Amino acid sequence: MMPQTTPRVCRDCDGFATVTITTGLPAVDGTRDTVRVNCPTCRGLGHTVPALRTARAVRGAA
Ligand SMILES: [Zn+2]
Repeated sequence: MMPQTTPRVCRDCDGFATVTITTGLPAVDGTRDTVRVNCPTCRGLGHTVPALRTARAVRGAA
């Protein structure tokens, strides 16, 4: 049996859940203005967990 508790690395961001994007506009303090964006798939976690199926009742699946 395979363990189901190990989280899988996010396939969208490959583990790099948070990226810093340079807007290209200079900030007022002279530094580059950057924006941090979290991966929408894993919400910045870097890994995904298997979706729980608690919402769907399994009937007759013996
Ligand atoms: Zn991700």
